[in-house]
Amino acid sequence: MDQVGITVKEETDSVWKSPWGAPNKVMSPCSLADVMSEQLAKQLQLDEENVGFPSNVDVNEPLITGDNIDTASDLMLAQMMQMEFDREFDTQLRREEKKFNGESKVSVSFENYRMVHPYDDSDSSEGEVDWQDTCHDPYRPDKPTTTPKKGFVGKGKNITTKHDEVVCGRKNTARMDNFAPEVQVGDGVGMDLKLSNQVFNALKQHCYSEQRRSARLHEKKEHSTAEQAVDPKTRLLMYKMVNAGTLEAINGCFSTGKESVVFHAKGGSIEDQAVPEECAIKVFKTTLNEFKNRDKYIKDDYRFKDRFSKLNPRKIIRMWAEKEMHNLARMQKAGIPCPEVVILKKHILVMSFIGEKQVPAPKLKEIKLSSEDMKQAYYQVLHMMQQLYQECNLVHADLSEYNMLWHNGKVWLIDVSQSVEPTHPHGLEFLFRDCRNVSLFFQKVGVSEAMNEYELFNAVSGLNITADNEGEFIAQIEALEKMNEDHVQKRGKKAPSYHSDDWGPLMKNSG
Ligand code: ADP
Ligand code: MG
Repeated sequence: MDQVGITVKEETDSVWKSPWGAPNKVMSPCSLADVMSEQLAKQLQLDEENVGFPSNVDVNEPLITGDNIDTASDLMLAQMMQMEFDREFDTQLRREEKKFNGESKVSVSFENYRMVHPYDDSDSSEGEVDWQDTCHDPYRPDKPTTTPKKGFVGKGKNITTKHDEVVCGRKNTARMDNFAPEVQVGDGVGMDLKLSNQVFNALKQHCYSEQRRSARLHEKKEHSTAEQAVDPKTRLLMYKMVNAGTLEAINGCFSTGKESVVFHAKGGSIEDQAVPEECAIKVFKTTLNEFKNRDKYIKDDYRFKDRFSKLNPRKIIRMWAEKEMHNLARMQKAGIPCPEVVILKKHILVMSFIGEKQVPAPKLKEIKLSSEDMKQAYYQVLHMMQQLYQECNLVHADLSEYNMLWHNGKVWLIDVSQSVEPTHPHGLEFLFRDCRNVSLFFQKVGVSEAMNEYELFNAVSGLNITADNEGEFIAQIEALEKMNEDHVQKRGKKAPSYHSDDWGPLMKNSG
């Protein structure tokens, strides 16, 4: 093969430019081996690439950055200086404010004298409304309406600072996205809505207070015993009873009243002592408002008097449970058919279950008894009321056909948390109310032997109050209560009991 002549481009060009000029350089012929050399081919390619894509950049050219902005405009310079001045003024103001307020809980605010609204001032102090506490930083550059860090956009006359009303308005609207999810902000964001700072601040405050309110409500709900369920703390206490073996299992709730929720449970054992096979767990409701109107039962009960004033409402509810336990124990001792106390844990009272196979005994209100049974029931109730008053020194204070169960051919008394001693400042009034309920019920169901409320009151209490009408009867009852109170005031202790002999002039001998 022949040798190939290789010339450089310029050289070739020059040859073409001066066709008559002597060719100044002619590439010396090279061997075929050189032409085929890889090294040479690479070199040639690099040369060609360098011509097409020059890699050297002139470092002397100005870089395009935010710092070398056009500062030629006088207006812009003036605005920048003003902003700097405002910022300094605000910092000074903040210092003054701090000095003035010191550690005082009551503080004054110079907020209204600020030049740069804290809202737009990313350096704002910690004492102000915390705008950064949402999950998104409103100053994040990816927000559509934020201005650059330098605080303004545009040039010359078209400069727009971050204080611009429209920009602020848009920014506020965008920030509505940061509100809690439950706050309905509508679709204003898509409508180029502009919220003024004032409106946005008010909205934000409202949003916060709503959140706090709903948190409070939620907490309240959690701490109360709901219709069917109980709160977590109560559940834990109940679970502990099962864990300790006191109860074998807790079945469903079979009664939800205003003041309690009652569950059925299978009894276990306490320190090798068997617990009744079927138990009732009475959980006193911890929603306090139900108990508000019951204050009078416990407040004036001398057994709880000293403690009452020192207790918080939650503890008062535990006292209801405790009261029921003590009262049941007294009744048990006197042989009155009633639930037997198993254990008391805070506001949870476990007692024997009146009923069978998880079916609670019916209330006297619910059951249809034969007239003979009803008559027996009446005499039994009369006897129980007398025992309660005379042996247990108690007045039921909520006795009615709703709190008397019919089980195994006899009446059982339940629900004695509110029961008081007869010398309670309203004890006799409560007794009279009980008598009225009992008397009216048995008369209604056809027990002809049933005494009227006045006779029943005297039969239970052993007092001999005679009066021509109800008003007079109650007046005498109140007079007795008053005398007892005076006795307490004078002697510093309660009167032992009501006896007709003690109250001579008030009693008219009815016999
Ligand atoms: P409340 O103060 O809410 O009326 P109660 O003590 O009267 O509370 O109990 C509510 C209901 O639960 C009663 O009407 C009764 O049906 C049932 N109950 C309560 N204790 C027992 C128990 N020991 N055995 C069976 N049922 C009971
Ligand atoms: Mg009841």
